[in-house]
Formats: sequence, C-alpha cells, structure tokens
Amino acid sequence: MQLGFDKKDRGYPWLSMLLDGYSIIDSGVETYIQVEVARGKRSLACHKGCGNCCISQTDIPVYPHEVAGIYWYVTEKLPQEARSLLMGQIDASQIDISAPCPFLGGQECLIHAVRPASCRVFNVFDTPCQQDEDPFYTRQFDVLLPPQEYINEAFYTVLPFYGLKDRYDRMDALEDGLINSRIMNLKTYNWKELFNK
Ligand code: SF4
Ligand code: SF4
Repeated sequence: MQLGFDKKDRGYPWLSMLLDGYSIIDSGVETYIQVEVARGKRSLACHKGCGNCCISQTDIPVYPHEVAGIYWYVTEKLPQEARSLLMGQIDASQIDISAPCPFLGGQECLIHAVRPASCRVFNVFDTPCQQDEDPFYTRQFDVLLPPQEYINEAFYTVLPFYGLKDRYDRMDALEDGLINSRIMNLKTYNWKELFNK
C-alpha cells in the first residue's frame, strides 16, 4: 500500500514518483513471493520484529532519490522521540560500520514507509536469518530473486528526479544504468546532515 501524504507535501514534486516507485517494487516483491510459495510450498521467513539483516548487513545500497525520501520522512513525519533515538544512532554508525543500521529502532525500521528498495527486495524463505548470518552466502536458494522488471519500472518512474522527463531519454538512461551509477551505501552515507551536525 502506498504511503499517503498531505497537502503541504505536494510542494515536493518528486515525492509522488518516489512513492509510486516503491509501490511498484512492493507489488513485484509480493508477486515473486507468491510464485515461490506456490511453486515450492515455501513460507516467507521475514516478519515484523525480525531484524538481524538490519544489524548484520554492512552494505545497504541506497540511491539519491531514496536519500531525498528519507530526508523528507525524517524531517516531516518522524515523531520527536524517534528522531532523538535516530540522532544518537547516527553518531554510533558513523564511527563503526559494523554497528546496526541507524534507522533500526528497537525491533522496527523507523523509516519503514520509505526504506530503500534494497531493504524491500531482501526477503528470505523458511528460516529466519541467524545473528550475523548473510543468507547470500549460507543459503542463497532461500533468498528471493530481485523482481528486476519491477525494479526497472520503478527506476523509470523516478527518472524525472534526475532531470529526465522524455520517454526515450528515460529508456536510454535505464539501459545505461544511470541510477545504478549513483549507488551509495546507507551505512556510510553522512546522515548527520539530517540534524545539521
Ligand atoms: S532477511 Fe532474514 S533477518 Fe531480515 S527480516 Fe528476513 S528473515 Fe529476518
Ligand atoms: S533502512 Fe530499515 S529495513 Fe533497511 S536496513 Fe535500515 S532498519 Fe533495516
């Protein structure tokens, strides 16, 4: 389900593109999961409160349009208590890359509605990950394949954020991997600017 936004957020023209893109990715993930479940009678291991991946993964891809979404969400939507928690965690994560993702608040993602595509597509079947387990290495068969055609469609949707509105320019940009060339790591990104530190 797409996150709603109120009147004043309409001042951010890229926001609806970002949320549309996430909606496309979520529906791709759901479709791929259903196919796997039907094919192998498997069950999804990921569930609310299961966050070992948010603790152990050190490389979490994030793109500029997603950073913009996180900035918007943290400054406009996050309650003060969660912002204070986040501020302390950002300090810790900048010092130590092996620290949990700074956006993990207890057992929950503080920015769940605008978490990056990389978090949305990372799903595991049958057995929840152990602490420090990276299932890509321990049991790749249990990791959901990324719904690539949906990811491409989502990237196509957000390309106006990068100044590309023409249909053919957007198709060329997709082929050339323009968005992929802007990849960053959520763990090492300088989130301190969120709090003007
Ligand atoms: S990827 Fe692993 S640790 Fe993360 S929510 Fe799914 S089962 Fe839990
Ligand atoms: S952004 Fe949220 S879902 Fe992604 S790693 Fe961080 S806490 Fe986990």
